Amino acid sequence: MNDQPVARRTKILATLGPATDAPGVLDDLLRAGVDVVRLNFSHGDPSGQIARAEALRAAAERVGKEVGILCDLPGPKIRIETFADNKVMLNAGDKFALVAREDAPPGDETQVGVSYLGLPQDVKPGDLLLLDDGMMQLLVDRVDGDTIHTTVQNNGVLSNRKGLNKLGGGLSLGALTEKDKELIGVAAQIKADFIAVSFCRNAEDMNEARRVAQSFGSDAHMVSKIERAEAIENLVEIVGASDVVMVARGDLGVEIGDAELPGLQKKIIREALDQSRIVITATQMLQSMVESPIPTRAEVLDVANAVIDGTDAVMLSQESAAGAYPVKSVEAMARICLGAERQFHNETNFEKAKRDLKRADQAIAMAAMFLSEHINVRAIVAMTDTGGTARFLSRYRSTANIFAMSGYDAARRRMTLMRDVQPVKFDYRGISAREATRFATKQLFDLGYLNVGDQIIVTNGDEMDRRGGTNTLRLLQVGLDGKAVGLASL
Ligand code: PGA
Ligand code: MN
Repeated sequence: MNDQPVARRTKILATLGPATDAPGVLDDLLRAGVDVVRLNFSHGDPSGQIARAEALRAAAERVGKEVGILCDLPGPKIRIETFADNKVMLNAGDKFALVAREDAPPGDETQVGVSYLGLPQDVKPGDLLLLDDGMMQLLVDRVDGDTIHTTVQNNGVLSNRKGLNKLGGGLSLGALTEKDKELIGVAAQIKADFIAVSFCRNAEDMNEARRVAQSFGSDAHMVSKIERAEAIENLVEIVGASDVVMVARGDLGVEIGDAELPGLQKKIIREALDQSRIVITATQMLQSMVESPIPTRAEVLDVANAVIDGTDAVMLSQESAAGAYPVKSVEAMARICLGAERQFHNETNFEKAKRDLKRADQAIAMAAMFLSEHINVRAIVAMTDTGGTARFLSRYRSTANIFAMSGYDAARRRMTLMRDVQPVKFDYRGISAREATRFATKQLFDLGYLNVGDQIIVTNGDEMDRRGGTNTLRLLQVGLDGKAVGLASL
């Protein structure tokens, strides 16, 4: 329907790290298309995170772009302790013990300490323990008090503080550690737009994280990372308790087995969209670009398939944080997303929209989508305080571009993750809804997003400053001066 080159619809999330600290890299990342950055709280200290957030905000200002910040909590990742010589070489068939005791001795070829003292209660003979994302596998023979005796299954090197998962999940560690709670305070200080809860198990984990965030004065949107077996069992309730869901394929693949990953990715994305949540697909999307300037064909297909599955955003981890080609990785993602979007049929999901018809803003979003499917519409312009209408517009899908005009910085930054939605700063306080509509289209016209004669749909509330108050839809046409006038004949 639209003949103008469309903007990329899928959003790009890039993890910051040593590779993005060099001067100029952040600006280049944003220009290459990063919409949201992730601060990985598993590494570094609070002052370093705060410095990165400040650098990001300065870069966003320079580049003139709306960029969201996601703070990712470490969560209860179980790790082995350290070795006397930092690492050991293990061979298949070796006997190796994990010692869950505060005063476990430094590790060697026969044993090493573990950070989680409850581990012996959570494992039984026959369990397979996966260390270092599965690079080292230990089969449990027996549990003797605080010591887990295992047999090594493969040859390899095991080094200090590697992560530990159990195949099939079931390690009963709470999701929010004391450290996580402290770090939520840091995220609040940073004014994070999103806070991600690692290894969440159920809705209560998400509710608790949200309560802690609120106690620090943060109303960040909460991201549940789906990365353990229990989270799959409780998927529906977790999605319901989250604003955003992440398909955290790294740990999920280790816990559930890689063969289940493709099906689970689709299932998680479907559930998130069904509940009108936002969804991120993460980990190893362009892994080879940590060292290579171009992605493998398999990686190209993986990113494209996530777009076709309906994800809102795709994420870079090591590729941007510690790789040799952070900017090229973002460029590759942007290119692949655009290509995939041409294959994706952005048809409106009327079945979903019908099921949702409970609120005025949902009804208006549905009506806008019906029109954009049936008449020639260049853009849907949502005048929105909180981003609520934009969210429903984006969940129902449309071939038209969605511009979300908001005067609230926090609301715009939260919309940076929404597929199809472009947040635009617009201050309409003190003017009438009618005037605001005219100014908004003029602004989009001046920015080059609209042309004279374009037919557009504008949604807004009667009282512009009331949350969730969208109850009006107008059909307009861009006039010669860029301001919109009423559209009479379609
Ligand atoms: P992580 O989370 O990078 O913090 O481990 C994502 C994942 O597990 O895929
Ligand atoms: Mn993880």
